[in-house]
Amino acid sequence: MILMDSYQSAKETLKNAVNIVDLIGQYVQLKKAGQNHIGLCPFHSEKDPSFTVNDAKQMFHCFGCKKGGDIFGFWMEYHKVSFPQALEDLAEKYHVPMPKGTFDPAEKKTKELKDILLQINETAAGYFHDILLNSNKGSPGRNYVAKRSIPKEIIMEFKLGYAPNAWDNLSGHFKAQDLAKAAEAGLIIPREKGRGYYDRFRGRVVFPIFNIKSQVIGFGARVLDHSLPKYLNSPETPIFQKGKTLYGLHKAVQKAREQQRLVIVEGYTDVLALRKHGFSEVVATLGTALTRDHIRLMKGYIKEALVVFDSDMAGRTATMKSLPLFLAEGLPAKVMILPDNDDPDTFVNKHGLAGFNALLDRAVPMFDFYLDLKVSKSGEMIENQIETLKEIIPILLSLDNAAQQSYYIRRVAAKIGVAEAGIIRELQKWNDPRNVGDKNKALRERLSSSHAIAGDDMPLLNLLIHHPGAIQDLIRCEVKTLLAHPFVIEIFDQMVDLYKEKRPFSAADILEKMETKPAGQYLREAMLAPSIYSETMVEQALKEFEDRVLKKNLNDSISKARQDGDLESLNRILKLKKVKGRPA
Ligand SMILES: [Zn+2]
Repeated sequence: MILMDSYQSAKETLKNAVNIVDLIGQYVQLKKAGQNHIGLCPFHSEKDPSFTVNDAKQMFHCFGCKKGGDIFGFWMEYHKVSFPQALEDLAEKYHVPMPKGTFDPAEKKTKELKDILLQINETAAGYFHDILLNSNKGSPGRNYVAKRSIPKEIIMEFKLGYAPNAWDNLSGHFKAQDLAKAAEAGLIIPREKGRGYYDRFRGRVVFPIFNIKSQVIGFGARVLDHSLPKYLNSPETPIFQKGKTLYGLHKAVQKAREQQRLVIVEGYTDVLALRKHGFSEVVATLGTALTRDHIRLMKGYIKEALVVFDSDMAGRTATMKSLPLFLAEGLPAKVMILPDNDDPDTFVNKHGLAGFNALLDRAVPMFDFYLDLKVSKSGEMIENQIETLKEIIPILLSLDNAAQQSYYIRRVAAKIGVAEAGIIRELQKWNDPRNVGDKNKALRERLSSSHAIAGDDMPLLNLLIHHPGAIQDLIRCEVKTLLAHPFVIEIFDQMVDLYKEKRPFSAADILEKMETKPAGQYLREAMLAPSIYSETMVEQALKEFEDRVLKKNLNDSISKARQDGDLESLNRILKLKKVKGRPA
């Protein structure tokens, strides 16, 4: 009980200390729109903002995917963590003291495993780092970083290390009781024959991979010679997913937010070389193609992504595959093209920051890059041109901006050598699933009404949310008989319970109780809708609801009496109705 109390008090303290607009604003680009802040939802793909954050109510709600909640709900969804973990993370972030031991057994186990894996990685990173800096065994690694001219500050900042070329360095470093966990972290591998483990990374320069909290979640390791594979990464573990991780993001975030852009490169050493030259808003993928998760991760910080890929065919193909992802996520992307045989590392070391910035200025929109590549490949053959067009049309359709779309139609027409009208006809043939019309108007409509709830439900819910004091009169007149939608009934019942245990109560109190329930979605939408009744209208509204209840009761009684053939009752009711003088 003492634990529960301090747990509750940490939660309350956080709710008071953290402003939801500030918190979410660190991860999602928000702009003010009336009472709310809106932005592109980090939880589903969209190009027009339906993700809404309300300062006064300290809640968020997405009208697209219906996700929503308070600061804890956001943290849980965004970082994919449990409630106790969210509480702990936010307490740490905002320096609020936290009681110990708030996890349930299953969560506790997962968290413990993750903590152990982080700890193991931290130990390994320290071990490799120490060898690179101080050990005789580290000299091949030191030669490598010297040859790549990676300075000491960068080695320290990114905690680079060296794994000596032997089977049992790291596995010999861990205590016996930690070996199984080190294997789970992917650092060592059980021997197929006999007992024991051997090191995964041997004779390689080691790049620890950090999460946004600067914890080591995995490793990338590069050979020093030309043997293969050139790069070896940690396997996927409960704390490490390549498709959701960007190398260097923890160091790039601040500058990326300032500059509103992020440069994406292919290699760890590219990130380090650019940082060495003072360019900070840069990250690398981990030897995988860009994923939607990567783009979602970035788009909270920036307005534009700049993709630098090697000029080889593999690099170009990878770039082209990411175009539909950028378009779907609504994040503008450009492509930086390097001279042949250069990568960002060699380029910036040769030409310096000024040279790199000049290249950055010449970056081309990814669509243009895509188009050039497609068209140059298709050549003059008419069949090939048709194939090319088939590939390009869905992308043209996905362009949101009409001016942009007609610009590219013109470009495509000129490039392929067909008439613009022909392309437009093709476009019209395709089904266009997008919303047409004024996007802001659509959002306003979504904000001010909830189509799923009809009849008396919405006005009543609106009345109760904005004037919770009305509940007493509404209970007395048995207003519940007017309600039809099961969610609204659930919300109403919750309000009644709350009214009985605590008065006065607010809409936020109810939301807290229903946050995770489907009805919570409806409550949030109702809370974001403007008030229908001003203070002076409440009394009149109550009277009207009461009348409607009476009418409904009368009508119900009449139909029941009719159904039962109970003429006596029917007569009595009809007389009563006459006395009341109100037509049914
Ligand atoms: Zn959403």
